Amino acid sequence: MQSGNYVTRYSQLRSQGRRRIFRHAALSGLSTLSKITGRLSSLRGTDGVHCLLLHHVFEDEEDAFRNLLRLLSKNHQWASYSEAVDRILQGSMEARHMCFSFDDGFKNCLRAAEIMNEFGISACFFVCCSMIGQTGREANHPLRSQRSGQPLIELLSWDDLETLLDQGHEIGSHTMDHRNLTELSAQGLEEEICGSFELLRKKIGTIKHFAWPYGRFVHFKPLAAKIVFDAGYASCASGERGCHANKEAVPKRGLCLHRDHVIASWPTHHTLYFLARSARAPLVASDTWPPGWLEAIGGEG
Ligand SMILES: [Zn+2]
Repeated sequence: MQSGNYVTRYSQLRSQGRRRIFRHAALSGLSTLSKITGRLSSLRGTDGVHCLLLHHVFEDEEDAFRNLLRLLSKNHQWASYSEAVDRILQGSMEARHMCFSFDDGFKNCLRAAEIMNEFGISACFFVCCSMIGQTGREANHPLRSQRSGQPLIELLSWDDLETLLDQGHEIGSHTMDHRNLTELSAQGLEEEICGSFELLRKKIGTIKHFAWPYGRFVHFKPLAAKIVFDAGYASCASGERGCHANKEAVPKRGLCLHRDHVIASWPTHHTLYFLARSARAPLVASDTWPPGWLEAIGGEG
């Protein structure tokens, strides 16, 4: 397939519907209110580890992404994903640490990586093994709500993963096929979670981190988390919002990473609103999973 058939600009994807306009207006109001009441200052005052989750940096988002990195650089110390995980596990948070992660493995992550390289930032890119290097509509299908005729987003290839690793970034597993894991049997979970672990380890070497598709707790279950840790992953990440601020060490199986989802082209004050909101209510170790999950996962053992 020719690259001309792929989406290159975020404006080609964005719906201009009423819902989006309402959301934009609501966020603008909330972020202005937060600024007036001084709440954004919590972003400058809270020691902890803040993990960001993005999916893409399209051509028309590059300037905004660079501006965001410039702004966040003023108040944060960048950590690689592995360093961020280690800090949370050890409760080692004597500054405002921040790390980046990208889910789904879109090709424009290569540009995101180049821009992050300008700032000395190492990110983790979570990829779905069965989609790496695929070019057809079938490969895009699980990643997006598909309406007929919707344009395709180009995906990373195995060579691209090597390029990212050479630049000092990390690769994590986002399963094999980006399925909703709550719908799978134990065998299906093993295939998605352990299968991707083994394949990535075979193709690129070390594999440490896992992030489940769709990211919310309603898209995951304790058995799946247990399989993640049994498989040998060092971390398990959600897309639930939050900033980690535990000062005590966490059992290795006892941690669910929370990540604040942002879109590179959002107005900066929208992104800061979410980050400040998470920083105002930082997470301690015991509240990273829903009630009862930790025991089922075996986190205290
Ligand atoms: Zn995803």
